[in-house]
Amino acid sequence: MKPEKFLPTEIIFSPTNQCNLKCAHCETRQNKKKLSKKKAIRFLDACHKAGINKVGFTGGEPFYALDFLCRISEAAVQRGIFFDHIITNASWFKNDKELRTALKRLFLAGYDGRFFVSVDAFHRQSLKKVSSFIKMVTKLFNQPDIVSIASVKGTKEPETLKILKKLANLLNAVFKGSLSQGASIKNKDLIIKIFSFGLSPIGRAASLRNPWDGKWFKEDFCKGPGNVFFVLADGTIKPCCGYAHYSDMLTIGSIEDNPRKLMANAGKNRFVTKIFESGLQEIRRQLEGLGLRFPGKTSDHCFFCHYLTSSIPRKLLNKCLIEK
Ligand code: SF4
Ligand code: SF4
Repeated sequence: MKPEKFLPTEIIFSPTNQCNLKCAHCETRQNKKKLSKKKAIRFLDACHKAGINKVGFTGGEPFYALDFLCRISEAAVQRGIFFDHIITNASWFKNDKELRTALKRLFLAGYDGRFFVSVDAFHRQSLKKVSSFIKMVTKLFNQPDIVSIASVKGTKEPETLKILKKLANLLNAVFKGSLSQGASIKNKDLIIKIFSFGLSPIGRAASLRNPWDGKWFKEDFCKGPGNVFFVLADGTIKPCCGYAHYSDMLTIGSIEDNPRKLMANAGKNRFVTKIFESGLQEIRRQLEGLGLRFPGKTSDHCFFCHYLTSSIPRKLLNKCLIEK
């Protein structure tokens, strides 16, 4: 098998933890911490010089840090950095006037990435607002497929389906497909792809789904949410935006560090190198070899990562991490 490595290809900024919603499954600890624009631009610059050419935004609710989004977008455009997407709940505004002003500012700042709107039975935000957001952003950016929807699957699916169909009605569009096979909302002006993501049963979501679902995850060396510099609102940097990123074991530095230092830190972090180079299954096999028995099998690798960092004694885990 080809050797794997942690090689970040993108920066994801989480400029604020604050959010207008309080979703039942949310792990974000809402507080007043905010990323500094100046430090973020310095970091963006250093990453760009190191060959990282893509940037995206998440939260909390990133539109609560609109100045940040606009300033970093301008800086990215000046440097020729591409945009990935902004993840939003599309319901953070008081009225259409506030929405229009914010989207215009972002457009004029040069943002030309996509928008991922979270809609499902957990978010339960105003669908009227989501519909206004989608209509306005599509018109202003003049791109029929600029919005995609991210929906949690694996639990509450009938309710989520009802919500998505209701949204399609508000958009005068048609819902097609199924959550498990792929779905979309379409009309002559809009093409919205719906992506379904498994609910990672960690933190508050732990009571919503049994994490030990009877089959082992397929090793992917964190390719999904991994291989990014994920910059949290307090300036801490993680190698991924997977559900276990809160663990201090996944910290590789701060926004004050340059990419070379972050890579060196990642190289010295035995947990990170093991996960990205040998894989989580290797840790599982080693722990089982040391006599540990897991409560079951799980198909969710980020849940397993979270379990390792939160439920396995560090002494035992460290034993595997020093073994090649
Ligand atoms: S919208 Fe996102 S950040 Fe806000 S409470 Fe829901 S899951 Fe958490
Ligand atoms: S398995 Fe762990 S390190 Fe990998 S992406 Fe998930 S949370 Fe991040």
